[in-house]
Amino acid sequence: MTERIIIMTLLLLFSTSCEWNQFADKIYYNGNIWTGNKNRPSAEFIAVKGETILGAGSNYKTFRGPETELIDLKGQFVVPGFIDNHTHFIEGGFQLMRLDLRAVDSKEEFISRIKKYVQDIPKGQWILGGKWDHEMWGGLLPTKDWIDSFTQDIPVFLSRLDGHMALANSKALELVKIKKDTPDPPGGLIERDESGEPTGILRDEAIELIRDVIPDKTYEEMDAALNKSMGYAASLGLTQIHDMCSWDDFETYVRNKDQLSLRIYAIPWYTHYKELIDYKKQHGIGDDWLRWHGIKAMLDGSLGSRTAWMHESYKDDPNTTGLVVSEDTLTLRHILRKADEAGLQMAVHAIGTRANEWVLDEFEAIEKEHGKRDRRSRIEHSQHLMPKDINRFSKNGITASMQPPHLYDDGSWAHKRVRDNVLKGTYVFRTLLESGANVTFGSDWPVASLDPLMGIYTAVTRHTRDGKNPDGWYPDEKISVEDAIRCYTINSAYAGFQEEKLGTIEAGKLADFVVLSKNITAIEPEEILNTKVVRTVVGGKDVFVKKEKNE
Ligand SMILES: [Zn+2]
Repeated sequence: MTERIIIMTLLLLFSTSCEWNQFADKIYYNGNIWTGNKNRPSAEFIAVKGETILGAGSNYKTFRGPETELIDLKGQFVVPGFIDNHTHFIEGGFQLMRLDLRAVDSKEEFISRIKKYVQDIPKGQWILGGKWDHEMWGGLLPTKDWIDSFTQDIPVFLSRLDGHMALANSKALELVKIKKDTPDPPGGLIERDESGEPTGILRDEAIELIRDVIPDKTYEEMDAALNKSMGYAASLGLTQIHDMCSWDDFETYVRNKDQLSLRIYAIPWYTHYKELIDYKKQHGIGDDWLRWHGIKAMLDGSLGSRTAWMHESYKDDPNTTGLVVSEDTLTLRHILRKADEAGLQMAVHAIGTRANEWVLDEFEAIEKEHGKRDRRSRIEHSQHLMPKDINRFSKNGITASMQPPHLYDDGSWAHKRVRDNVLKGTYVFRTLLESGANVTFGSDWPVASLDPLMGIYTAVTRHTRDGKNPDGWYPDEKISVEDAIRCYTINSAYAGFQEEKLGTIEAGKLADFVVLSKNITAIEPEEILNTKVVRTVVGGKDVFVKKEKNE
């Protein structure tokens, strides 16, 4: 009898202590929560303890303890945190920090914007950036005389929008020793006035002369760029990125590992495979904040520059079918095999139909040679596919890592480059999803917009920048908002081997989610662009809260 009582008491104590452990630190309640969890697609609250979701459902009572903080979501729409499958994050940060003259439409504004920017520049630092377009103010090219008087000892180097022209001030020209008698470099031009004096405008290869003297980025600058990017990403509802990074970028992440407010899966450039394999041997593959277990390679170029590798020649240049940018495919093939042997994930950039076919062939060959395993190899962009290749993604467990914001730009002019048969296989979101492939979304930022809502909008509407496709560019490939959300959340989590921890809102997963101002599954697609991120939570912490007007 007494034994029984003791056991009962122990059981009672045990269950009570368990319950104590189950009290949440925070409960986000009164939300319209799209969980992405098939067993429980919607919820009203998310209970969080530490970094983890304790529960998500309709009645939070059992999770509420005396210390639990309650946060009213005011009926707002919540989705799992967005995961961008392809960024160049540090480069993006530098672009955010640099002078951006894109919107400038007069000489006066051009001058005043630079004047203002100079005031915050520490001595010795270069003023970089630009993106100016002289067509915006009638076509008069800027000269060093516009800015010399107030930039003086600060070197200035500002690129035109297309990168084929740049403006340097006298200080920059002096540092690179461009004078009246300096000859034009091969493939480049130093613009001169009537007296032969350089005006500050440099074209093409002449731009490289300046690039050579710009000092390497310091650790402080790299860290600052990361911080700038993280703040921006949080404001857009991103909770993780898969970053196609340089080795310096990777070291920046490692250096800042304890200060990250965004999860990062770092995928360094493939020529660093030996360093990465060594790093993995010594340090494992990282944790939920920072991981490294993949390499990024690049096979071909881009559609815009006619360097995407195609089966047939370009419509507007019959002399080319694009090109393989990887300097030596034998080396690439060797490195892919070495990486695979070391258990790394392979992510290979392929745009053209031929490039995609080549990478699919390689992935299949590697599986044959090394045996089956859960590789989740990825083709970055998977942009133009032959009909026969589409099913090969699902058949071989290959992820199509796609970036809908590119469609918004390319859809305006792609018909000039390639024929209808190619365009039918372009950004085939729907066909790939229906084939059972793991399709994931991201941005390729800073090449295209980092904003996931913009990406969802484009995947759903297939609208293009020129506004000429109101019903959608190749509209058969439009997908639903919910599918687009999946591509930005759980599918990206799967692509990074983290579907057990990320990508949906359910008990046991990490508390990464985004509160939006509108229910994007229930509004006109146009309205998605007017939807704001209200709050971004990563690991149970608010990393972004939108300021209300009256605050
Ligand atoms: Zn990229």
